[in-house]
Amino acid sequence: MPDQLLPILDVVLTPWGLALLGLCVGSFLNVVIHRMPLMLERQWQSDARAMLELPESTTEAAPLTLSKPASRCPKCGHQIRWFENIPLISWLVLRGKCSACGTAIGVRYPLVELATGALFAACYWRFGAEPTTLLWCGFVAVLVAAAMIDWDTTLLPDDLTLPLLWAGLVAAALGWNLPLKEALWGAVAGYLSLWSVYWLFKLTTGKEGMGYGDFKLLAALGAWLGWPMILPIVLASSVLGAIIGIGMKVTGQLREGVYVPYGPFLAGAGLVVTMAGQQRVLQWLGWA
Ligand SMILES: [Zn+2]
Repeated sequence: MPDQLLPILDVVLTPWGLALLGLCVGSFLNVVIHRMPLMLERQWQSDARAMLELPESTTEAAPLTLSKPASRCPKCGHQIRWFENIPLISWLVLRGKCSACGTAIGVRYPLVELATGALFAACYWRFGAEPTTLLWCGFVAVLVAAAMIDWDTTLLPDDLTLPLLWAGLVAAALGWNLPLKEALWGAVAGYLSLWSVYWLFKLTTGKEGMGYGDFKLLAALGAWLGWPMILPIVLASSVLGAIIGIGMKVTGQLREGVYVPYGPFLAGAGLVVTMAGQQRVLQWLGWA
C-alpha cells in the first residue's frame, strides 16, 4: 500500500467515513439500477437484429451508458445539476420533487442511498478498520444493485453476478477472506444446489421456479461466505420469499402470471449472513 494512501484510508475507514462513502456509492447504484436493464435490453435487441441479419434499428435512441447522458427528470427532461444530485440532502431540500416541473421523485432513491450508507457503516462494525473492509463494501454494493434490478425487472444481470463470483474467488486466493477451498466449494455448492432444485421442479411440474441468474448469485454468495453458509442462505431466503410472495398475493399486489423474484431474498439473506458471520449463523441454527 503506497504511503500517500494511508491518510485517506484513515479518514475513510471510520464509521462516518464509510457511511458517507456509502451514500455516494448508493447514489451511483440508483443510476446502475435504472440504466443497466435498459442497456441490456438494447444490447439484446441489437444482437437479435444482427443474428437475424436485419438492418440496425433506425429509431436508435441516443447512446446510453452508466456515465452518459447526465441524469434528467423523466417527465420534463430538466437536467439534474450537481447540487441537485447530492445524496440524501438534495432529495430532502427539494422535498422529493423535480425543481423544474414539481414531479415527485420516488422515495426509493434516498432509501437506496441510506441503505447503502448504513450497510457500509455495518461493514466497519463487522470487519474493522482494515483495507479489506472496502472489499466487503464493494460486495455489499453489488448485492444492493442486483437485488433492486431483480425486484424491478426479474433480471439478474451476468454483468453483476459473474464479476462478484470471480472477485470472491480471487479475494480468497489472495488470502483476503476465506480459505480458498471454502470459497471454491461455496461457489460450486451455491450453483449446483439451486440448479438441482430448478430441474427437479421443472421435471415434476413443468414450470420454471427461478432463473439461471439465481444460481449465479448464490454461487457468488458461496464464494464470499463459504460453503457452510449455502444451506442457511437457501433456508432463510425461501422462507422470507414465501412469506412476502403469499402476502403480496393475499393483498392483491401480485398480478396474475407475475412472480416474485428470488434474487432480492438471496441477496438479503446473504447480507444478514455477512453481518452476522459464519460462527453466529451456525450457532443460531444449533449446528455449532
Ligand atoms: Zn421535471
